[in-house]
Amino acid sequence: MQKIGVVTAGGDAPGMNAAIRSVVRTAIFHGLKVVGIERGYAGLIEGKIHPLNARSVSGIINRGGTVLKTARCEKIKTEEGVKKAADNLKINKIDGLIVIGGDGSFRGASELYNASGIPVVGVPATIDNDVAGTETTIGFDTAVNTALFTIDRIRDTATSHERVFVVEVMGRKRGFLALAVGFAEGAEFILVPELKFDIETICKKLKQGRKKGKTSEIIVMAESAGDSSLIVKEIKRQTGYDVRLTILGHALRGGAPTAQSRILANQFGAHAVELLLKGAKKRMAGVKGEKIVSVDLDYSWQQKKNIDKQLYRLAEILSS
Ligand code: ATP
Repeated sequence: MQKIGVVTAGGDAPGMNAAIRSVVRTAIFHGLKVVGIERGYAGLIEGKIHPLNARSVSGIINRGGTVLKTARCEKIKTEEGVKKAADNLKINKIDGLIVIGGDGSFRGASELYNASGIPVVGVPATIDNDVAGTETTIGFDTAVNTALFTIDRIRDTATSHERVFVVEVMGRKRGFLALAVGFAEGAEFILVPELKFDIETICKKLKQGRKKGKTSEIIVMAESAGDSSLIVKEIKRQTGYDVRLTILGHALRGGAPTAQSRILANQFGAHAVELLLKGAKKRMAGVKGEKIVSVDLDYSWQQKKNIDKQLYRLAEILSS
Protein backbone atom coordinates (compact mmCIF):
# COMPACT_ATOMS: atom_id res chain seq x y z
CA MET A 1 0.00 0.00 0.00
CA GLN A 2 1.61 3.23 -1.17
CA LYS A 3 -1.15 5.58 -2.15
CA ILE A 4 -4.69 5.92 -0.81
CA GLY A 5 -7.68 7.97 -1.92
CA VAL A 6 -10.31 9.66 0.23
CA VAL A 7 -13.81 10.64 -0.88
CA THR A 8 -16.95 12.02 0.81
CA ALA A 9 -20.27 10.80 -0.64
CA GLY A 10 -24.01 11.13 -0.02
CA GLY A 11 -25.43 13.81 2.27
CA ASP A 12 -22.88 15.96 4.10
CA ALA A 13 -22.54 15.64 7.86
CA PRO A 14 -20.71 17.86 10.39
CA GLY A 15 -17.39 16.20 11.16
CA MET A 16 -16.67 14.98 7.63
CA ASN A 17 -13.84 17.54 7.43
CA ALA A 18 -12.35 16.31 10.70
CA ALA A 19 -12.46 12.77 9.25
CA ILE A 20 -10.68 13.89 6.04
CA ARG A 21 -7.99 15.58 8.17
CA SER A 22 -7.54 12.44 10.25
CA VAL A 23 -7.27 10.19 7.18
CA VAL A 24 -4.73 12.49 5.49
CA ARG A 25 -2.50 13.01 8.53
CA THR A 26 -2.60 9.36 9.67
CA ALA A 27 -1.72 8.22 6.16
CA ILE A 28 1.21 10.67 5.94
CA PHE A 29 2.38 9.55 9.39
CA HIS A 30 2.58 6.00 8.02
CA GLY A 31 4.49 7.12 4.91
CA LEU A 32 1.55 6.87 2.49
CA LYS A 33 0.65 9.29 -0.29
CA VAL A 34 -2.94 10.61 -0.25
CA VAL A 35 -5.22 11.91 -2.96
CA GLY A 36 -8.60 13.58 -2.49
CA ILE A 37 -11.50 12.82 -4.82
CA GLU A 38 -13.90 15.72 -5.33
CA ARG A 39 -17.72 15.60 -5.42
CA GLY A 40 -18.22 12.01 -4.33
CA TYR A 41 -18.48 9.20 -6.87
CA ALA A 42 -19.29 11.75 -9.60
CA GLY A 43 -15.76 13.16 -9.21
CA LEU A 44 -14.26 9.68 -9.25
CA ILE A 45 -15.99 8.91 -12.54
CA GLU A 46 -14.86 12.28 -13.97
CA GLY A 47 -11.29 11.83 -12.66
CA LYS A 48 -11.37 14.85 -10.32
CA ILE A 49 -8.49 13.59 -8.21
CA HIS A 50 -5.70 15.65 -6.66
CA PRO A 51 -2.89 15.16 -4.13
CA LEU A 52 -3.40 16.17 -0.50
CA ASN A 53 -0.73 16.96 2.07
CA ALA A 54 -0.80 17.75 5.79
CA ARG A 55 -1.35 21.45 5.03
CA SER A 56 -4.27 20.77 2.66
CA VAL A 57 -6.32 19.87 5.71
CA SER A 58 -5.25 22.76 7.98
CA GLY A 59 -7.99 24.65 9.81
CA ILE A 60 -10.87 22.35 8.86
CA ILE A 61 -11.39 20.27 12.02
CA ASN A 62 -14.02 22.75 13.24
CA ARG A 63 -15.79 23.34 9.93
CA GLY A 64 -19.11 21.81 8.88
CA GLY A 65 -19.67 20.47 5.35
CA THR A 66 -16.91 18.79 3.37
CA VAL A 67 -13.97 20.52 1.68
CA LEU A 68 -13.90 17.68 -0.87
CA LYS A 69 -17.57 18.45 -1.69
CA THR A 70 -20.11 15.70 -2.17
CA ALA A 71 -22.80 14.68 -4.64
CA ARG A 72 -25.54 12.16 -5.18
CA CYS A 73 -24.37 10.18 -8.19
CA GLU A 74 -26.68 7.88 -10.14
CA LYS A 75 -24.01 6.84 -12.65
CA ILE A 76 -22.11 4.76 -10.08
CA LYS A 77 -25.18 2.52 -9.89
CA THR A 78 -24.61 1.47 -13.51
CA GLU A 79 -22.09 -1.09 -14.78
CA GLU A 80 -20.50 1.53 -17.02
CA GLY A 81 -20.20 4.04 -14.15
CA VAL A 82 -18.58 1.54 -11.76
CA LYS A 83 -16.15 0.48 -14.50
CA LYS A 84 -15.14 4.08 -15.20
CA ALA A 85 -14.67 4.75 -11.47
CA ALA A 86 -12.64 1.53 -11.04
CA ASP A 87 -10.49 2.45 -14.08
CA ASN A 88 -9.78 5.89 -12.59
CA LEU A 89 -8.66 4.29 -9.32
CA LYS A 90 -6.22 2.15 -11.31
CA ILE A 91 -5.01 4.98 -13.62
CA ASN A 92 -4.24 7.08 -10.53
CA LYS A 93 -2.46 4.11 -8.88
CA ILE A 94 -4.73 4.25 -5.84
CA ASP A 95 -4.09 1.14 -3.70
CA GLY A 96 -6.92 1.70 -1.21
CA LEU A 97 -9.98 3.93 -0.94
CA ILE A 98 -11.56 5.46 2.15
CA VAL A 99 -15.21 6.41 1.68
CA ILE A 100 -16.71 8.83 4.20
CA GLY A 101 -20.52 8.68 4.02
CA GLY A 102 -23.66 6.72 4.84
CA ASP A 103 -25.08 3.30 3.93
CA GLY A 104 -25.76 4.29 0.30
CA SER A 105 -22.14 5.35 -0.10
CA PHE A 106 -20.97 2.02 1.33
CA ARG A 107 -23.14 0.13 -1.12
CA GLY A 108 -21.38 2.04 -3.88
CA ALA A 109 -18.00 1.30 -2.25
CA SER A 110 -18.80 -2.39 -2.18
CA GLU A 111 -19.60 -2.34 -5.92
CA LEU A 112 -16.31 -0.53 -6.52
CA TYR A 113 -14.34 -3.21 -4.69
CA ASN A 114 -16.13 -5.96 -6.63
CA ALA A 115 -15.26 -4.24 -9.92
CA SER A 116 -11.67 -3.24 -9.12
CA GLY A 117 -10.35 -5.51 -6.36
CA ILE A 118 -9.00 -2.34 -4.74
CA PRO A 119 -9.56 -2.40 -0.95
CA VAL A 120 -12.22 -0.04 0.41
CA VAL A 121 -12.89 1.08 3.97
CA GLY A 122 -15.96 3.03 5.07
CA VAL A 123 -16.07 5.83 7.63
CA PRO A 124 -19.70 6.27 8.76
CA ALA A 125 -20.69 9.92 8.62
CA THR A 126 -24.38 10.79 8.41
CA ILE A 127 -26.78 12.81 10.55
CA ASP A 128 -29.29 9.95 10.15
CA ASN A 129 -27.27 7.43 12.23
CA ASP A 130 -28.86 4.67 10.14
CA VAL A 131 -25.71 2.63 9.43
CA ALA A 132 -25.75 -0.91 10.85
CA GLY A 133 -22.66 -2.11 12.74
CA THR A 134 -21.91 1.16 14.54
CA GLU A 135 -23.74 2.63 17.50
CA THR A 136 -23.30 6.13 16.20
CA THR A 137 -22.03 8.05 13.19
CA ILE A 138 -20.03 11.23 12.63
CA GLY A 139 -22.41 14.21 12.59
CA PHE A 140 -25.32 12.62 14.45
CA ASP A 141 -24.51 14.19 17.82
CA THR A 142 -24.05 17.58 16.16
CA ALA A 143 -27.42 17.38 14.39
CA VAL A 144 -29.14 16.39 17.65
CA ASN A 145 -27.60 19.37 19.44
CA THR A 146 -28.41 21.77 16.59
CA ALA A 147 -32.05 20.66 16.74
CA LEU A 148 -32.17 21.06 20.53
CA PHE A 149 -30.77 24.58 20.26
CA THR A 150 -33.72 25.63 18.08
CA ILE A 151 -36.46 23.61 19.77
CA ASP A 152 -35.51 25.06 23.18
CA ARG A 153 -36.40 28.44 21.68
CA ILE A 154 -39.60 27.10 20.11
CA ARG A 155 -40.57 25.80 23.54
CA ASP A 156 -40.37 29.35 24.97
CA THR A 157 -42.80 30.73 22.41
CA ALA A 158 -45.01 27.61 22.59
CA THR A 159 -45.38 28.13 26.34
CA SER A 160 -46.13 31.86 26.00
CA HIS A 161 -48.84 31.29 23.40
CA GLU A 162 -50.12 27.95 24.74
CA ARG A 163 -49.49 26.30 21.39
CA VAL A 164 -48.73 22.84 20.10
CA PHE A 165 -45.61 22.79 17.93
CA VAL A 166 -44.87 20.02 15.47
CA VAL A 167 -41.16 20.06 14.67
CA GLU A 168 -40.03 18.05 11.65
CA VAL A 169 -36.42 16.85 11.53
CA MET A 170 -34.52 15.14 8.71
CA GLY A 171 -34.64 11.38 8.25
CA ARG A 172 -35.56 10.33 4.71
CA LYS A 173 -36.13 6.73 5.74
CA ARG A 174 -35.42 6.33 9.44
CA GLY A 175 -36.29 7.95 12.76
CA PHE A 176 -33.06 7.77 14.80
CA LEU A 177 -32.56 11.54 14.70
CA ALA A 178 -36.19 12.27 15.64
CA LEU A 179 -36.06 9.82 18.54
CA ALA A 180 -32.83 11.23 19.99
CA VAL A 181 -34.01 14.83 19.55
CA GLY A 182 -37.47 14.12 21.00
CA PHE A 183 -36.04 12.19 23.93
CA ALA A 184 -33.46 14.87 24.79
CA GLU A 185 -36.04 17.66 24.35
CA GLY A 186 -38.68 15.96 26.49
CA ALA A 187 -41.15 16.13 23.60
CA GLU A 188 -44.72 15.07 24.37
CA PHE A 189 -44.80 12.87 21.26
CA ILE A 190 -42.17 11.45 18.91
CA LEU A 191 -43.26 10.25 15.48
CA VAL A 192 -40.93 7.86 13.65
CA PRO A 193 -41.57 5.68 10.58
CA GLU A 194 -40.53 2.51 12.44
CA LEU A 195 -43.33 2.68 15.04
CA LYS A 196 -47.07 3.02 14.41
CA PHE A 197 -48.88 6.03 15.78
CA ASP A 198 -52.44 7.20 15.64
CA ILE A 199 -53.44 10.87 15.44
CA GLU A 200 -56.72 10.27 17.24
CA THR A 201 -54.90 8.80 20.26
CA ILE A 202 -52.38 11.64 20.19
CA CYS A 203 -55.22 14.18 20.23
CA LYS A 204 -56.94 12.41 23.13
CA LYS A 205 -53.68 12.47 25.07
CA LEU A 206 -53.12 16.12 24.23
CA LYS A 207 -56.52 16.95 25.71
CA GLN A 208 -55.82 14.81 28.81
CA GLY A 209 -52.50 16.63 29.22
CA ARG A 210 -54.21 20.03 29.14
CA LYS A 211 -56.65 18.80 31.81
CA LYS A 212 -53.62 17.82 33.92
CA GLY A 213 -52.21 21.33 33.59
CA LYS A 214 -50.02 21.22 30.45
CA THR A 215 -50.22 24.48 28.53
CA SER A 216 -48.07 23.73 25.48
CA GLU A 217 -46.65 20.71 23.73
CA ILE A 218 -43.79 19.77 21.42
CA ILE A 219 -44.18 16.94 18.90
CA VAL A 220 -40.96 15.91 17.17
CA MET A 221 -41.39 13.95 13.95
CA ALA A 222 -39.09 12.42 11.34
CA GLU A 223 -39.74 13.65 7.79
CA SER A 224 -40.48 10.04 6.81
CA ALA A 225 -43.12 9.58 9.53
CA GLY A 226 -45.81 11.28 7.43
CA ASP A 227 -46.95 14.53 5.87
CA SER A 228 -46.28 17.10 8.60
CA SER A 229 -48.72 19.73 7.22
CA LEU A 230 -51.55 17.18 7.15
CA ILE A 231 -50.70 16.05 10.68
CA VAL A 232 -50.82 19.66 11.90
CA LYS A 233 -54.21 20.22 10.18
CA GLU A 234 -55.66 17.05 11.68
CA ILE A 235 -54.50 17.85 15.24
CA LYS A 236 -55.97 21.36 14.85
CA ARG A 237 -59.26 19.89 13.63
CA GLN A 238 -59.55 17.29 16.38
CA THR A 239 -58.44 19.47 19.32
CA GLY A 240 -59.21 23.05 18.33
CA TYR A 241 -55.77 24.02 19.68
CA ASP A 242 -53.39 26.47 18.03
CA VAL A 243 -50.98 24.09 16.25
CA ARG A 244 -47.87 25.28 14.38
CA LEU A 245 -45.28 23.57 12.20
CA THR A 246 -41.51 24.15 12.08
CA ILE A 247 -39.39 22.22 9.60
CA LEU A 248 -35.73 22.22 10.63
CA GLY A 249 -34.59 20.63 7.36
CA HIS A 250 -31.10 21.29 6.03
CA ALA A 251 -30.11 23.51 8.97
CA LEU A 252 -29.39 20.25 10.79
CA ARG A 253 -26.68 19.30 8.29
CA GLY A 254 -24.54 22.38 8.86
CA GLY A 255 -22.53 24.04 11.60
CA ALA A 256 -19.39 23.28 13.54
CA PRO A 257 -19.18 19.67 14.69
CA THR A 258 -19.59 18.99 18.42
CA ALA A 259 -16.73 17.53 20.46
CA GLN A 260 -18.28 14.06 20.14
CA SER A 261 -18.50 14.28 16.33
CA ARG A 262 -14.89 15.52 16.09
CA ILE A 263 -13.52 12.87 18.45
CA LEU A 264 -15.33 10.14 16.51
CA ALA A 265 -14.07 11.57 13.20
CA ASN A 266 -10.48 11.62 14.47
CA GLN A 267 -10.75 8.01 15.64
CA PHE A 268 -12.64 6.62 12.64
CA GLY A 269 -10.33 8.32 10.12
CA ALA A 270 -7.19 6.93 11.76
CA HIS A 271 -8.73 3.48 12.18
CA ALA A 272 -9.73 3.36 8.52
CA VAL A 273 -6.13 4.02 7.39
CA GLU A 274 -4.82 1.40 9.82
CA LEU A 275 -7.32 -1.14 8.48
CA LEU A 276 -6.03 -0.59 4.94
CA LEU A 277 -2.44 -1.00 6.17
CA LYS A 278 -3.39 -4.28 7.89
CA GLY A 279 -4.71 -5.64 4.59
CA ALA A 280 -8.46 -5.13 5.02
CA LYS A 281 -10.41 -5.53 1.77
CA LYS A 282 -13.96 -4.37 2.50
CA ARG A 283 -14.42 -3.05 6.03
CA MET A 284 -15.98 -0.17 7.92
CA ALA A 285 -14.89 1.63 11.08
CA GLY A 286 -17.52 1.58 13.82
CA VAL A 287 -18.01 2.21 17.51
CA LYS A 288 -19.28 -0.31 20.05
CA GLY A 289 -19.43 0.85 23.65
CA GLU A 290 -16.15 2.66 24.25
CA LYS A 291 -14.30 0.76 21.52
CA ILE A 292 -13.54 1.57 17.90
CA VAL A 293 -14.20 -1.61 15.95
CA SER A 294 -13.95 -2.96 12.42
CA VAL A 295 -17.13 -4.20 10.73
CA ASP A 296 -17.89 -5.99 7.46
CA LEU A 297 -18.72 -3.21 4.97
CA ASP A 298 -21.60 -5.17 3.42
CA TYR A 299 -23.18 -5.69 6.86
CA SER A 300 -23.41 -1.90 7.21
CA TRP A 301 -25.92 -1.54 4.36
CA GLN A 302 -27.45 -5.03 4.14
CA GLN A 303 -28.58 -5.13 7.77
CA LYS A 304 -31.35 -2.93 9.08
CA LYS A 305 -30.38 -1.08 12.23
CA ASN A 306 -33.09 -1.33 14.90
CA ILE A 307 -34.66 1.66 16.59
CA ASP A 308 -34.36 1.61 20.39
CA LYS A 309 -37.91 0.79 21.53
CA GLN A 310 -36.97 0.97 25.22
CA LEU A 311 -35.79 4.54 24.75
CA TYR A 312 -39.05 5.34 22.94
CA ARG A 313 -41.07 3.86 25.81
CA LEU A 314 -39.06 5.83 28.38
CA ALA A 315 -39.66 9.02 26.37
CA GLU A 316 -43.41 8.31 26.62
CA ILE A 317 -43.23 7.78 30.38
CA LEU A 318 -41.13 10.89 31.02
CA SER A 319 -43.34 13.17 28.94
CA SER A 320 -46.56 12.35 30.81
P1 ATP B 1 -27.00 10.04 3.76
O1 ATP B 1 -28.05 9.03 4.08
O2 ATP B 1 -26.43 10.73 4.94
O3 ATP B 1 -27.44 10.99 2.69
P2 ATP B 1 -25.78 8.05 2.12
O4 ATP B 1 -24.38 7.67 1.81
O5 ATP B 1 -26.67 6.93 2.61
O6 ATP B 1 -25.74 9.26 3.15
P3 ATP B 1 -27.11 8.10 -0.47
O7 ATP B 1 -27.57 9.23 -1.30
O8 ATP B 1 -28.08 7.02 -0.12
O9 ATP B 1 -26.45 8.74 0.85
O10 ATP B 1 -25.88 7.39 -1.20
C1 ATP B 1 -24.75 8.16 -1.55
C2 ATP B 1 -24.25 7.79 -2.90
O11 ATP B 1 -23.84 6.41 -2.88
C3 ATP B 1 -25.28 7.89 -4.02
O12 ATP B 1 -25.42 9.18 -4.52
C4 ATP B 1 -24.68 6.95 -5.04
O13 ATP B 1 -23.64 7.60 -5.72
C5 ATP B 1 -24.08 5.82 -4.16
N1 ATP B 1 -25.03 4.72 -4.06
C6 ATP B 1 -26.18 4.68 -3.36
N2 ATP B 1 -26.83 3.52 -3.55
C7 ATP B 1 -26.09 2.80 -4.39
C8 ATP B 1 -26.23 1.50 -5.00
N3 ATP B 1 -27.28 0.74 -4.79
N4 ATP B 1 -25.24 1.09 -5.82
C9 ATP B 1 -24.16 1.85 -6.07
N5 ATP B 1 -23.99 3.09 -5.55
C10 ATP B 1 -24.92 3.56 -4.73
